[in-house]
Amino acid sequence: MTQKNSSRKGREASSSGGEKPQEQEAAQEVAESAEAQQASAAAETQHDGAPEPESPETVAQEDSARSATKPASLDAAYHEEQSRKLSVSDRVNDPDRIRGLIEEYRKEHGLPTQRSEDRPHAGATDEGTFAGDDRKFDLVVRGERIMTTAGLAAREVGVRDGKIVALEPLGSGLVGERSIDLAEDETLLPGLVDTHVHINEPGRTDWEGFATATRAAAAGGVTTVLDMPLNSIPATVNVPALEYKRLFAQNQSFIDVGFWGGAIPGNKKHLRSLHDDGVFGFKCFLLHSGVDEFPHLEADELEEDLAELKTFDSLMIVHAEDSRAIDRAPQPEGDVYDTFLRSRPRGAENLAIAEVIERARWTGAKAHILHLSSSDALPMIASAKEDGLDLTVETCPHYLTLLSEEIPNGATAFKCCPPVREVGNRELLWEGLIDGTIDFIVSDHSPSTLDLKDLDNGDFGVAWGGVSSLQLGLALIWTEARRRGVELERVVQWMSTKPAQRAGLRSKGKLALGYDADLAIFAPDEGFVVDAGKLHHKNPITPYQNKALSGRVRRTFLRGAEVDFQEPAGRLIRRGEA
Ligand SMILES: [Zn+2]
Repeated sequence: MTQKNSSRKGREASSSGGEKPQEQEAAQEVAESAEAQQASAAAETQHDGAPEPESPETVAQEDSARSATKPASLDAAYHEEQSRKLSVSDRVNDPDRIRGLIEEYRKEHGLPTQRSEDRPHAGATDEGTFAGDDRKFDLVVRGERIMTTAGLAAREVGVRDGKIVALEPLGSGLVGERSIDLAEDETLLPGLVDTHVHINEPGRTDWEGFATATRAAAAGGVTTVLDMPLNSIPATVNVPALEYKRLFAQNQSFIDVGFWGGAIPGNKKHLRSLHDDGVFGFKCFLLHSGVDEFPHLEADELEEDLAELKTFDSLMIVHAEDSRAIDRAPQPEGDVYDTFLRSRPRGAENLAIAEVIERARWTGAKAHILHLSSSDALPMIASAKEDGLDLTVETCPHYLTLLSEEIPNGATAFKCCPPVREVGNRELLWEGLIDGTIDFIVSDHSPSTLDLKDLDNGDFGVAWGGVSSLQLGLALIWTEARRRGVELERVVQWMSTKPAQRAGLRSKGKLALGYDADLAIFAPDEGFVVDAGKLHHKNPITPYQNKALSGRVRRTFLRGAEVDFQEPAGRLIRRGEA
């Protein structure tokens, strides 16, 4: 078989040394810092029989930097390649090794060696504090335009102990320790809930970290994010890995953060314990994930895991592109976007989505299609929903606002997988949203370092695939929605209410009694021009550079307290407790 995949090409480029020096350097730097940080813990785990000739982080980092975003091909080397990846994953994600890292971290930071009670406080204190109580509120917000569950209304919102406890007509005279009168051009929204964010810490913190990502989120009116299980090292595929990630997230997060678990080959036995430890569901891939420590599932493995998740009513969220279809597609190399687009055909998505639908049908499990790009798949999704499958679908601002026809040569800031497609595709995605076939919109914020975006060469086959947009989602979607005559109320449902519901976040996603007082003061008519250097996420790159948008978030409140961008007050949330 001819050499068809960029993963092997990338590897050759790296090992031959000359072609991508900047990329190698980046991988090397990352690997070295990860090595230094983790060397002692890695040494500690050697006694258990697993020889550790080099740090697992080193292996993972080097491999991911080389392998871009394409799967291995189905030739003779395929199985060898698969088992190599499994062994990378086994080593990087080994629970005993991670327990060692946790112990190290706790020692280094003077934390008790026992697992601390880092659980969030359980909800409001519920002492009859709903409307009718005449005690002062902690905070009252008054305005002509409050986005209630019944649409925009003139209201006064009373907040106590972090919860919304009063929603009264404007003029009721609620009294608060603090009160805010909205300006004429301001609307009060429930904080947005973004269930698809890659934070990458620990392990690839130079790509993105909890402090920077959650600041970006808060600035964009997002008050809850759910972090994806991959791109951090280790991947969140067992309980120690989840605990380790929480150590880094606590005290650094400006908004509430929850976690997805990962489903990879061989970790079925860890799914239930991750669920019990509060993950909101499980992510899997049906093709190479882009990082070797997070291998993908074959369709039969997906079905096995779906059956497992069904036993405790958890949700499987799937990156649905078909490995074989991508393998047989043309090569992505070069700086012409159209070449890259042809390397990620709609057919790859369509095949994989059909697979997810049928396996969900056979098992009766709950499934969710991540980042839908191919509008071809909408009819079969609609039909599966009509059949009563427990299936939901998300799409992202980039598929709803960008056009492949307009992407300049070499502009790798636009590269993501699945890719941004043509204008006709975008129009159909909007139709799918409006008719309810697509359930909600999330960012899929997936940053990397500038080096890994291959800015010097602009080679779409080499650059990391991922768009950074966490701070801009609301303005992007609102700008486009308004142009199409879509109400702000629907935008809020797509970006707050519905993702919260699907993730089982019972106190998020609505401006309603008993819900967390997570609020955003939004000025829908205020325009601004995107400047990557002024966004809060770590690496200053975005495909929306210089784009004029309308809709600015002026202030964000988390459980009634304004986010000040100085003191991180976010909580780590768990399924069933938020
Ligand atoms: Zn993603």
